[in-house]
Amino acid sequence: MYLELKHLTVDFNGFLAVHDVSLGIEKGETRVIIGPNGAGKTTIIDMITGKTKPTQGEILLNGVNIAGKESYDISNTYGIGRKFQGPNVFDEMSVYENLEVALSGHTSLWQAFTYRRTRAVDVRLEEILSQINLTEQRDMLPRFLSHGQRQWLEMGMILAQNPAIITLDEPAAGMTDDETFKTGEMIKSVMKDKTVIVVEHDMDFIKQIAKTVTVLNQGEILAEGTYEEVSHNAEVIRVYLKT
Ligand code: ADP
Repeated sequence: MYLELKHLTVDFNGFLAVHDVSLGIEKGETRVIIGPNGAGKTTIIDMITGKTKPTQGEILLNGVNIAGKESYDISNTYGIGRKFQGPNVFDEMSVYENLEVALSGHTSLWQAFTYRRTRAVDVRLEEILSQINLTEQRDMLPRFLSHGQRQWLEMGMILAQNPAIITLDEPAAGMTDDETFKTGEMIKSVMKDKTVIVVEHDMDFIKQIAKTVTVLNQGEILAEGTYEEVSHNAEVIRVYLKT
C-alpha cells in the first residue's frame, strides 16, 4: 500500500475528532472522503499534511511513518501538496506570475526574483495554463477571475510544485455546475498520475472522479466502497445523504 493510515486518533482535549481510523490508498488512486460536518474529514487531511499531529497512530508513505512531521517537511521532502478550501493566491501578481512563483519552489515574490526563467520553465508554465483552462487569462490579476478560475489557479500552483500526492479540500465548493464538471475532468486527466485525496460534498462530482469513497461519521469510518456501494448503503443514507 502506498499511503496507509493506521489506527489514527486525534484527541482535542478529550474530544475524539478522529478515532481509530485506518485506511489504505493505492498509488495513482483518487480517493474521496465524505461525511457530515464535523465528521473529521479536514482533521484527516490536516494530519496527512502535517498541520495536526495525531495523538495515536501512524501515517505510512511507502512504509515510512510521516505522522507528526512538520508540514514544511511533508510538502518538500515527501511531496504531499495541499489545496485549502478557499483560493490562496498572490493578489498583486498575474496568473502567470503566480504559477511562476509556485514552480520556482519559493513562497514569495521577493524570493522568486532570484529565480532565473528558462525555456523549460516557460514551456512547463504554458502547459499548466492550458491544463487549468487559463491560457487566455494568463496576464490577469486573480481578482478578475471567476471563483472557479481562482480555484483552478491554485490547483495549477500545486501542479507546478509537482507533488506525488495532492489533497483537495472541497475543490468544487461555490463553483457553477459547468466549473464543477471541468474540475472533475481536470482531476481525471491532469492529475491521473498523482495520488489524489479529495474531501467533497457534491455527489455528482464524487461520482465523476472517485474509484473508492470513504465515509466518515463522528470521527470513525462508517463505510468504504465504490460510489455505487456507498450511495446505496442504508447507514450512509441515514447519517449523511438524507441531510
Ligand atoms: P469535517 O471536516 O468533517 O467537517 P473537522 O475535521 O473539521 O470535520 O472537525 C471534526 C471535529 O473536530 C469537529 O467537531 C470540530 O469542531 C473538531 N475540531 C476540529 N479542530 C479542532 C481543534 N483544533 N480543537 C478542538 N476541536 C476541533
